[in-house]
Amino acid sequence: MLFREIIGQENLKAHLINSVKENRIPHALLLWGNEGCGKLALALATAQYLQCENRQEHDSCGVCPTCRLMQNLTHPDLHFAFPITKEGSKTVCNDFMNSWREKVTENPYFSYKEWINTISNEKQGLIYSNESEEILRKLSLKSYSNGYKIMIIWLAEKMHETCANKLLKLIEEPPENTIFILISEQPDIILPTIISRSQMIHVPVIDEESLSKVVGNNIAHIANGNYIKALELSKEEYSNTDNLENYRSLMLGAYSKDLLTLKNWTESMASRSREYIKDFLSYTQFITRECFIAHLQNSSLNYMISSEQAFSDKFKRFLTVDNIENIMELFNKASRDISQNVNTKIVLFDLGINLMTQIKK
Ligand SMILES: [Zn+2]
Repeated sequence: MLFREIIGQENLKAHLINSVKENRIPHALLLWGNEGCGKLALALATAQYLQCENRQEHDSCGVCPTCRLMQNLTHPDLHFAFPITKEGSKTVCNDFMNSWREKVTENPYFSYKEWINTISNEKQGLIYSNESEEILRKLSLKSYSNGYKIMIIWLAEKMHETCANKLLKLIEEPPENTIFILISEQPDIILPTIISRSQMIHVPVIDEESLSKVVGNNIAHIANGNYIKALELSKEEYSNTDNLENYRSLMLGAYSKDLLTLKNWTESMASRSREYIKDFLSYTQFITRECFIAHLQNSSLNYMISSEQAFSDKFKRFLTVDNIENIMELFNKASRDISQNVNTKIVLFDLGINLMTQIKK
């Protein structure tokens, strides 16, 4: 990982780069902060910069043999510990190393939940007690190139207590040229003695300007500095398209008082599953509220993606203080009726007719 591949975090990058250049990297570093701010990416870039054979002023060279091994996560002096779920004969991180390398090299921004889903059907993962022997074994090996041995522990708060206690001993008396980079989203539940022996560095959320260069202004605003959230929102944008189109057709029918349009809409909706309709009705409450807020011209309070924003720009003038409550109640009622198994066609057609009386040209 190169520093220049990391989104934002310019101050922190400069700090880490200088620490390496000035030989001030502590033997235990704890990068902590919210999900999606780039802690793992920063740990990887720091590790690579430490090892690079041809270090540049502001980044690793990216092309020396060591950089190549670091980028593939196959460098013999780069080690990892991370939460796993025990399955059959798989009991230590090494048993999951191929999945880990694949996941991290594809994109080092992912959540704990996403990782656990990648390797297992279980919900919870841990760094189990027997991992401590693995860590000790790996760090006892002679360093490959007489450089640093680096152990990155992703989500140190997931360490089993026994493992944490053994790790503490290692941090207290580290093997020569060994650097621990701990990563945490909940440092308050890590063993306090580990915390006190590590240099803590807070990783802030990604600044909106840097994030918007990657995912656009709208998503960057909603994601609030969390790149993982931003990626999820980009996917959602895709699935919301259906709901927005259905809402647009319904409102067009209501606005134009066109019963045939409304009837066609009702029939096309009624051919979908009840779950699909429920999802749509819950979306109507979101989008109606958003358009109304936009009408009040309070765009900083809006959480719409770009296609919704474009729709809202045209539609919002039809939502006023006089009809908003009634309209929200109509959607609420339709939602309740669908949950109580009332006939879909009747519910949706009634909804359309009632909206006609509320939406004024
Ligand atoms: Zn290099």
